[in-house]
Amino acid sequence: MTITTSEQKITMKDLKSDDPRWCTGCGDYTILVGLRKFMVKHQLDPSHTVHVSGIGCSGRIPHYLNTYGFHGIHGRAVPIALGVRMASPDCSIFIHSGDGDSLSIGGNHLLHGISKNFNCVYLLFDNQIYGLTKNQTSPTSQKGLKTQTQPTGSEMDPINPIRFALGAGASFVASTAEWMGAHMLDTIEAAYMHKGFSFVHIAQRCPKFNPDAWDAKSFEWLTFLNSDQGIAPEPRALSSAKQIEHDPTNIADAFKLSEQVPSVLGLFYKEDKMCYDDMLFNQVESAEKLERSKLLDAYSI
Ligand code: SF4
Repeated sequence: MTITTSEQKITMKDLKSDDPRWCTGCGDYTILVGLRKFMVKHQLDPSHTVHVSGIGCSGRIPHYLNTYGFHGIHGRAVPIALGVRMASPDCSIFIHSGDGDSLSIGGNHLLHGISKNFNCVYLLFDNQIYGLTKNQTSPTSQKGLKTQTQPTGSEMDPINPIRFALGAGASFVASTAEWMGAHMLDTIEAAYMHKGFSFVHIAQRCPKFNPDAWDAKSFEWLTFLNSDQGIAPEPRALSSAKQIEHDPTNIADAFKLSEQVPSVLGLFYKEDKMCYDDMLFNQVESAEKLERSKLLDAYSI
């Protein structure tokens, strides 16, 4: 893999790697292009950018970006990313995970990643189905959806990813849709600028196994949250989608709005809070200043 150095101007072409192997019409393509556009806009140095993923169709993203990457095991992208963060504090870290990977086998890791609030952008690609393994009910599948695992229809209410993130104490929670390029780019940008664990829910089309999950042709079912945090409503939707003012520091309102997911897009919540990685770096820095005898005193129980 060729890594472009920080002295050169990064272009879309520089970021291309292997040819993607997703189905025709898959929303993962637009997320990939959105990520490349974001990296070019901000001239993110590929040699200081790491994309980490779990298992699923979303898990292939690191293969298609000419940066460093780690395609991890199922649900384990968060601890891998935390390890990368501790070893390489000057790198930008993006985590890519699907609804099954995030909220089923990886639910525990996601909970603790959010709780630790370490610096990264977490993108949850939500297509409401297990696509890679060919059509099984996922934690966000809608009630009644017929799949290979539940041919008579899912009996469960879906897990609400926004409510999960808010409930776990996330310091940044936003939702967007991959077919809204401008809104998705603004959302990734706001997430990247935030200090801490930035949780971004992305509605993603899976035309192969769940074509009716989202109505990507109409904007009328959508409400955009207006705030002063730099995420403007999708320009193409301005004439038909609803817009409401929302204070993203108001956690109670954020919870109320989360009941309407997935029809509400924008920044739900944002707060400044302590980051686990900063705390550990500070501990190491303080310990390094101590003489060995004092170090043993300081850390003996
Ligand atoms: Fe995309 Fe669905 Fe195909 Fe996976 S199965 S590549 S999510 S369209």
